[in-house]
Amino acid sequence: MTPLYLDYAATTPVDPRVAEVMAAHLTLDGNFANPASRSHRYGWDAEEAVELGRSQLATLLSCDVREVVFTSGATEANNLAIKGLAAARAGRGRHLITSPIEHKAVIDCFKWLEGQGFEVTWLQPEASGVITPETLAAALRPNTQLVSLMAVHNELGVINDLEALGRLCRDAGVPFHVDAAQALGKLPLNLATLPVDLMSFSAHKIYGPKGVGALYVSRDLSPAPAAQMHGGGHERGFRSGTLPTHQIAGFGAAAACYDGTALEAEQAHLWACRDAFLAGLEGLPGVHHLGEGAPAMPGILNLAFAEVDGETLQMAVATDIACSSGSACNSVSVEPSFVLTTLGIPRALAFAALRFSFGRFTALEAARAAGQALRKRVTALRSPIAVSS
Ligand SMILES: *Cc1c(COP(=O)(O)O)cnc(C)c1O
Repeated sequence: MTPLYLDYAATTPVDPRVAEVMAAHLTLDGNFANPASRSHRYGWDAEEAVELGRSQLATLLSCDVREVVFTSGATEANNLAIKGLAAARAGRGRHLITSPIEHKAVIDCFKWLEGQGFEVTWLQPEASGVITPETLAAALRPNTQLVSLMAVHNELGVINDLEALGRLCRDAGVPFHVDAAQALGKLPLNLATLPVDLMSFSAHKIYGPKGVGALYVSRDLSPAPAAQMHGGGHERGFRSGTLPTHQIAGFGAAAACYDGTALEAEQAHLWACRDAFLAGLEGLPGVHHLGEGAPAMPGILNLAFAEVDGETLQMAVATDIACSSGSACNSVSVEPSFVLTTLGIPRALAFAALRFSFGRFTALEAARAAGQALRKRVTALRSPIAVSS
């Protein structure tokens, strides 16, 4: 039997509606041209497809189409936002703020900037992983040039209060960047009212293709981030490179899947998946729900199992469930998740933590069965017979 896919936070399968749109933008009989070709009909058609994708994403975000810059993914969007803004504002000051449990694509930008002479304040998260507005308020200085904090945590699912954090930044006149790769399509993001200046997105977390993402750049942000990719001046100079029509059309189609009440319906489905999975686990002692107590996005559930060896647990569970230990991005390393150890979770427990993430195609009955299978595996690993054999 193939294991049940519960790793939607690492990536999602492409929605068939999206795949169909993408396929129409590749071959000679399709809309394949370079969207920057201004001299013929093929180019105009491709440009139209790109602009449709842009408007579909802008609709989901309630922002202006001119505020969407397409990139190769959230990693590049984070690089453009953080390094680009630090460069654009370096003459005003060199103090920046982030947290030590951001995605690596954020952390490593700030570490690089530290090497370039910037001073970075790493905010201490609560035990749940949430960054409180009080913590941010205490760290803001007159020379602070950028605050970067994520919307939904990729390992824990906990939600930061963007409204309160962003308001503090606005009041202090400091630009606010948010990595929202795990929030898009999961929470309503109304950029018309949310006090955020820069926001990063990835298509492959919302049933679109890998290799495309976007950075929202508020029209009111001045100076804007300095380009990190130089060339033909595409994307109003923010990001040069031929626009991948099929990727952008796919990203737009993926965003359009949340039209109307679809986002709410999907949220309800994720809660139901999580409840079904937990119902299957019911009765199992020694389960630590990491991030518990904070507001959370239901698609991500991080559970640590006391009194089992992490590595043995992962191997046993892999038969039934495809899930993640730590985040997929650092799964090559044998260290426990740096996020969990930073939050003060003991190493042995952090080693025995698994991230289960649900999605659009998770069947409730399968989620319940996976929970039951997990309960059996953990119980067997803890039994004295398993230890002595
Ligand atoms: C997946 C993810 C990224 C990286 O996105 P890519 O498009 O794969 O580069 C960045 N930040 C968070 C929070 C993510 O979940």
